[in-house]
Amino acid sequence: MLKRILGLGRAQARTVSIESTGLSFPVGPGETVLEAALRAGIAFPNKCRSGACGTCRCTLREGRVREKVDTSYVLGADDLQRGQILACQSLACTDLRLAVEGLQPQQRIPAPRATEGEIIAMRPLTADILEIRLRLQSPMPYLAGQYAELARKGIPGARQYSFARGSGDGHAVSEPCFFVRHVPGGRFTAWLHHQAVVGDCLSVQGPYGDFWLRDAMRPMLCVAGGSGMAPLRAMLEDAAERQVERDVLFCFGARTEADLYCLDDMKLLASRWRGRFRFLPVLSEEPAESDWQGRRGMVTAEMMSELKDPAGMDAYLCGPPPMVDDGIARLKAAGMAEARIRFDRFLDASHQPSAQAVP
Ligand SMILES: Cc1cc2nc3c(=O)[nH]c(=O)nc-3n(C[C@H](O)[C@H](O)[C@H](O)COP(=O)(O)OP(=O)(O)OC[C@H]3O[C@@H](n4cnc5c(N)ncnc54)[C@H](O)[C@@H]3O)c2cc1C
Repeated sequence: MLKRILGLGRAQARTVSIESTGLSFPVGPGETVLEAALRAGIAFPNKCRSGACGTCRCTLREGRVREKVDTSYVLGADDLQRGQILACQSLACTDLRLAVEGLQPQQRIPAPRATEGEIIAMRPLTADILEIRLRLQSPMPYLAGQYAELARKGIPGARQYSFARGSGDGHAVSEPCFFVRHVPGGRFTAWLHHQAVVGDCLSVQGPYGDFWLRDAMRPMLCVAGGSGMAPLRAMLEDAAERQVERDVLFCFGARTEADLYCLDDMKLLASRWRGRFRFLPVLSEEPAESDWQGRRGMVTAEMMSELKDPAGMDAYLCGPPPMVDDGIARLKAAGMAEARIRFDRFLDASHQPSAQAVP
């Protein structure tokens, strides 16, 4: 613990090596370990990059780091005792040796970059989800499932939004699109939904995140709620293009029939898909008297009634944190191994450590 606090490193580049992988990379002064790993194209586990989700936790075997925030909100006393750190909050004071679980050394990812994007199209998909398309000054490569950080001058901080279309497996895209849900009380989404116009400019940085499709032959379960449709649509679009042959069950949760969207895209995907493709919309607040003939209830409960052999599948979940957490708990209880479950929780400012500290 002492080395975390005392390590005030001199301003010089350090080297980080990841044990059992043969990977090493330089980390510059003021740069976090995660930023440096991503710059080197290493598929270091990461999601929110702000110290809230704990995905980039790893074990410090050798060396000293200085942490930008108090990570004890995410890391428990046992984790800290075992030398765990959050790569997204750690600055290297010395050369470091890390142990990182779940890192695929052979997987390469596009290094993040920063550019500007002009809004060239805006289209409401539902009453509270807007599709925006940007034209980037410098095209951005990404893996379908990853996200970019968007920021608007005058609104402090950046927000994460998942790419909603495939990239053709990591190609640079000059006109990415995003699905943005209006969050009540949210600053960026209030501006985007109520004030933004075509021609407005945003800062765009990315790609980030580790929610991309892993190669396997097992049937896939996809589960999304609301704007969580975006990365799954992107992922499935690229997989269809690559002629991936796996059975897919895509369960999509919405409140009412009016909150369903991308239905034509799902039909198109189903027609192009090699293997079985089933899209199952589930409505949680559809009026009882409506003529909706489909499923009603919570998407995570309904998906379970469809699964014959959860332990033999891979799962990809994305959207509101309570939905994702409930889905993960149900799948684990049904025997699905943790390593087969991939997810992105759409965390926002109310989930940040600083927000939790407010009494
Ligand atoms: C990996 C990832 C991918 C994502 N992808 C998408 C996507 O594709 N589409 C999408 O719609 N969203 C996505 N999100 C969520 C998105 O990044 C934003 O968090 C969301 O749009 C809210 O932005 P906002 O500026 O409107 O809200 P914010 O201003 O950030 O506020 C969010 C909420 O927190 C509350 N709040 C603000 N400050 C505090 C505080 N100090 N204490 C307590 N509460 C507070 C606000 O009242 C509001 O309810 C993603 C998130 C992550 C982590």
